[in-house]
Amino acid sequence: MGFLDSVRGLFGTDERTFHYVCERCDTEFESTKSDMSAVACPDCRSTKIRAVSPA
Ligand SMILES: [Zn+2]
Repeated sequence: MGFLDSVRGLFGTDERTFHYVCERCDTEFESTKSDMSAVACPDCRSTKIRAVSPA
């Protein structure tokens, strides 16, 4: 069980999250939004991001 799974367990939410990476600054982040066009990088606010497939 990963760290994020533990956090999810603590807060009792099973809300689906999506994993993205910013193509501008390489920051990886998660969002509950599945619509990529509605997601921006939390670091540089760039909307040029791509989805990361779960390992
Ligand atoms: Zn960025």
